[in-house]
Amino acid sequence: MSLEELFKEIIIEHYQHPKNHGHMEHPDAKSEGSNPLCGDELQMELCFDGDHIKDVMFTGNGCSISQSAASLMTEAIKGKTLEETRGIMDEYKKMLQGNSYDPDILGDLEALSDVRKYPARVKCASLSAAVLDQALQQKK
Ligand code: ZN
Repeated sequence: MSLEELFKEIIIEHYQHPKNHGHMEHPDAKSEGSNPLCGDELQMELCFDGDHIKDVMFTGNGCSISQSAASLMTEAIKGKTLEETRGIMDEYKKMLQGNSYDPDILGDLEALSDVRKYPARVKCASLSAAVLDQALQQKK
């Protein structure tokens, strides 16, 4: 199996069986965003424990890229410190912008690396980072 095929499988798997999908009872932060160009919508809820992201959940509608990116992003940041989360988001943005990035930091999020070849889809993949960014700004 080529790396490209493996990446496609990861995206399809997360689209069909999203992780951390749903709502939590008492989120510390909530945010939402949309990508009207594609019709993608995303809501994220976060729960903090000190400087850690204790829990994160999302709901949304839209294309496979936007929804699998949200699932992969929640998996990547769950249990991480805010600083680690910022690092993951930075590498993710670098990857989508076509810059060099650190695959060790991104883990499975690297499955979305081919998206940068399709500028219209970059907004689909970026939505999860934008919504997460808003939620993190609510951290007191
Ligand atoms: Zn989309």
